[in-house]
Amino acid sequence: MIRKGILFIVSAPSGTGKTSLCSELLRAFPDLILSISSTTRPKREGEQEGKDYFFLTQEQFEKKIQKKEFAEWARVYGQRYGTSRKFIEDQVEHGNDLLFEIDTQGALALKSMYPNSVLVFIFPPSLDHLRLRLEHRGKNTSQELEERLKKAQEEIRQSEKYDYFVVNDVFEEALVKLKAIIVAERNRKERVKPPLTLTLSPHCGERGG
Ligand code: 5GP
Repeated sequence: MIRKGILFIVSAPSGTGKTSLCSELLRAFPDLILSISSTTRPKREGEQEGKDYFFLTQEQFEKKIQKKEFAEWARVYGQRYGTSRKFIEDQVEHGNDLLFEIDTQGALALKSMYPNSVLVFIFPPSLDHLRLRLEHRGKNTSQELEERLKKAQEEIRQSEKYDYFVVNDVFEEALVKLKAIIVAERNRKERVKPPLTLTLSPHCGERGG
């Protein structure tokens, strides 16, 4: 019997470096599968349909909600984002481990549906650092920046419900910690078949010659 797939759910305030850390994780564990969310937000430059997101109209998204196709969905910065229920269930049944990059509302909703999920929260070194990173990235208006910092504080408040905390101060160190979490969780005793039996094989120990 194969073990069920594990849900690794990573959340972090915008600007913490979650996407870069997750892409490195996917490179390090080629058998880890990224869950692609659906969203109503417009595609950004360089993003690809089906690789970054499934980009849907409001009507298409609404239809999926009605048909209960999302395991969870949430409104983030005025746009809607959702995770496919069928995708999760198919992959978990096949024993495939999944990686999610979703916000705290989605993470906690998935945890209540799939209690064995592993929740990892990535922190910036400080809120001042986060502000500087967001300013440096230059993608947001000052109103959006304030909105992101406010959401960051809300998300940090939710983080106490997570299983692991990683601070992304030095990228390589944060990555080592994330990799360690994956390896450790894959080797929890509940997930590993006992590696040996207590009987010796009949010819064990016989001397040759
Ligand atoms: P962005 O638009 O910058 O790609 O993502 C904005 C926020 O939405 C991020 O915090 C991201 O993690 C979150 N997000 C992306 N996909 C999902 C999803 O399927 N569900 C939820 N709840 N949040 C998501």
